[in-house]
Amino acid sequence: MAFVLVLNSGSSSIKFQLVDPNQSATDKPEVSGLVEQVGEPLGAITVKVRGEEIREELPIPTHADGLERAFGIMHDHGVGPTDVEVTAVGHRVVHGGRLFSEPQLIMDQIESMIEDLIPLAPLHNPANLDGIRVARALLPDIPHVAVFDTAFFNQMPPAAALYAINREVASEYDIRRYGFHGTSHEFVSQQVPGLLGRDPNHTRQITLHLGNGASAAAIANGRAIDTSMGLTPLAGLAMGTRSGDIDPGIIFHLVREAGMSIDEIDNLLNRESGVKGLSGVNDFRELRRMIDEEDQDAWLAYNIYIHQLRRFIGSYMIALGRVDAITFTAGVGENDTEVRQDSLYNLDMYGIHFDKEANLVRSKEPRMISTADSPVKVFVVPTNEELAIAQKATVIGDMAREAGLFN
Ligand code: ADP
Repeated sequence: MAFVLVLNSGSSSIKFQLVDPNQSATDKPEVSGLVEQVGEPLGAITVKVRGEEIREELPIPTHADGLERAFGIMHDHGVGPTDVEVTAVGHRVVHGGRLFSEPQLIMDQIESMIEDLIPLAPLHNPANLDGIRVARALLPDIPHVAVFDTAFFNQMPPAAALYAINREVASEYDIRRYGFHGTSHEFVSQQVPGLLGRDPNHTRQITLHLGNGASAAAIANGRAIDTSMGLTPLAGLAMGTRSGDIDPGIIFHLVREAGMSIDEIDNLLNRESGVKGLSGVNDFRELRRMIDEEDQDAWLAYNIYIHQLRRFIGSYMIALGRVDAITFTAGVGENDTEVRQDSLYNLDMYGIHFDKEANLVRSKEPRMISTADSPVKVFVVPTNEELAIAQKATVIGDMAREAGLFN
């Protein structure tokens, strides 16, 4: 059987999977794993091979260290990337800028173009590049494909994609709303018409990708018409460590009054803000524990998070005019029952009849958490970005082989 190795190299983690691109959305991959807490005093590598879980706890200074050790563990179990047939390596890349509206075969030139985009995604593109470089060095004879998080939002209407700032400046510096988490919003939104029994070309929906990073998207008939992230992944919802939308004047204020440098403000807003900046933690399981212990900072952080989420849900309902479904996905969206309930609390007059009992059901399958007669259906749909990336990487990988670039 042929597999695609999918790498999702994040700011402090690397998720990896060996995926059969022909598997169904809910099938388990051959191998899945997670490198966690890169750069922390103690990290962990977890590899799951056909039901067996191998876990090692060790300091992981860099992404390269984590990935090499993960490949080593896979090899020890006979499923390393050199032990089984791997037809392509699919890399999740956060920022594709204006250049990349489609997945790309990674050559040196593409790698340096991704590097050039680091200023637009300072939290993620460097980590993505680390993953690409280590993997290309370890697996030079396999096509590597970059799948960009921005691609799904490339065709947004100008009124949503462009900012109300000076046109010449915006045009010269490619300032526009790119949007992120596109692979996930696309993958999840494509399943919703089937769950609704509706024609995909007549389905209007809101998707909420709530992980450590978080974004909302408004999608009409398969096409994104608005999204909460912008030029960078800093915009929109309050997130694990990012502020989400703030008054841009705050930046001028911090420069003038606090004497902060641009890098300091960048770090403040990207890494030390959001839920973490308010409560000290960015993991929702910890936040929940703190709330249970009546920690006031945690409670405030949670309320700001929910308030911001409700603002976007409301504005996208108006942007779409008619909404058939609202769907939660990613770590928080799939697991945190209270976030789902509180973000849609008391919206019956807008046609959202939330089903509290259904919301408490734990499952890996897509499921409805509104009442069956709710005009706006609410779903939880586990995202599978790895499968989506594997499918895209397979297409590009096959083209590269047909072009004689790989054997
Ligand atoms: P990303 O891909 O953006 O790094 P994920 O989609 O993996 O993030 O989501 C990470 C977030 O999901 C973390 O804040 C984590 O606490 C949260 N999460 C994971 N499992 C649970 C759970 N059981 N309950 C609440 N939150 C959870």
